[in-house]
Amino acid sequence: MATHLVQDLDGMARIVKKFGGTSVGDMDRIQNVARRVAKAVGEGHEVAVVVSAMAGVTNQLVGYCRTAATFHDAREYDTVVAAGEQITAGLLAITLQELGIPARSFLGWQIPIKTNNIHGAARIEEIDPATLEACFKEGRVAVVAGFQGIADDNRITTLGRGGSDTSAVALAAAVSADRCDIYTDVDGVYTTDPRIVPKARKLDKITYEEMLEMASLGAKVLQTRSVALAMKHGVRTQVLSSFEELPGTLVVGEEEIVEQEVVSGIAYSRGEAKVTIVGLEDTPGKVSGVFAPLAKNNINVDMIVQSASDDGTTTDVTFTVPEDDLKKTVQILEDNRDVLGFSDLVYTGDVVKISIVGVGMRSHAGVASTMFDTLSDKGINIQVISTSEIKVSVVIDAEYTELAVRALHSAYGLDRED
Ligand code: ADP
Ligand code: ASP
Ligand code: MG
Repeated sequence: MATHLVQDLDGMARIVKKFGGTSVGDMDRIQNVARRVAKAVGEGHEVAVVVSAMAGVTNQLVGYCRTAATFHDAREYDTVVAAGEQITAGLLAITLQELGIPARSFLGWQIPIKTNNIHGAARIEEIDPATLEACFKEGRVAVVAGFQGIADDNRITTLGRGGSDTSAVALAAAVSADRCDIYTDVDGVYTTDPRIVPKARKLDKITYEEMLEMASLGAKVLQTRSVALAMKHGVRTQVLSSFEELPGTLVVGEEEIVEQEVVSGIAYSRGEAKVTIVGLEDTPGKVSGVFAPLAKNNINVDMIVQSASDDGTTTDVTFTVPEDDLKKTVQILEDNRDVLGFSDLVYTGDVVKISIVGVGMRSHAGVASTMFDTLSDKGINIQVISTSEIKVSVVIDAEYTELAVRALHSAYGLDRED
């Protein structure tokens, strides 16, 4: 992405600033956000803002939809859950106006932010930069409702949980912003979630690739899709605190990192569920018979292991799905029980996926075995394993989450020295 010229000419920049749910959690905090935006405007920067819903609001709206129906109409779900961001966008615009800063709110469709029609998990396909460009020109702050867009069928879509990050990065790419600042309730990206490991260290920089893995493996500090977009368009993305004026973490290309750790972070994801199909007939077509109907219902199967049984006629297949989809998964499998012919279905949501991530892993042996040794020393049983070039993930009992993450954090030398 070309760097916007303004920055080179006189130190001013075009910046998209995104404020998460806690940062806009009440009116005091919205005022705090407005002051930060006003400061950047006062320094002469061109600023556009993206906001999330107030903390807790989206969860509440999702809860209403679930109460209304297990298999609810995803289009109506989007109409409901997109509502939280409308409120904060309007409130921040009003608050900025009170500070004498010209501002107006925009909903996704008013930009427009065009998406595909996968309701609940839509992808941004196109953003017309004209609306934001016009605001920059007029010296007006556009406050955009994050998390939402509009599909071809003229219906509101949402981008999946945590999707305001993606709205911000996509807008930053569309207007060739110099930077996308993601303001949140921690002051950067840490070696692991600082809320469960007090010894976690803040990273000055992290590569796009590692951040992408960390995010997709559960570090919700950035939505996965936002990192993919930042990487694709070379958006300089910074994660920083909305409460303190501290330098944050910059997500950068690999070439910008001088010394690369073997393992740079540990992620965990509690939102997993494990399903075992016991006694599935061991013949061609049976496994595909299990996963095809799940895929058709947009259920994302993650890790899969198949174990042959003693007599070779049946097999057990274990896999993980998002916990939110467990009910649906079980229902679909039970509906197909006669065709599939398995003997039992065992499932639990009491599992967690723990992952170690690092680009340095590519050139180091023994990284996975340190993980297995560390967990076994703590008496933690590994239920499923999967690996890729730069990560190793295991599924374990949820009750050991903190113990496992802390032990691994120490084992890979990531603990902060006090
Ligand atoms: P927002 O509402 O601002 O979008 P989120 O709750 O989505 O904020 O993301 C911030 C949270 O991400 C932090 O409060 C922290 O608990 C969690 N988190 C998980 N892993 C990490 C990590 N490696 N570094 C920083 N924060 C992390
Ligand atoms: N409000 C939405 C959510 O809670 C989007 C976001 O916060 O990024 O998932
Ligand atoms: Mg978030």
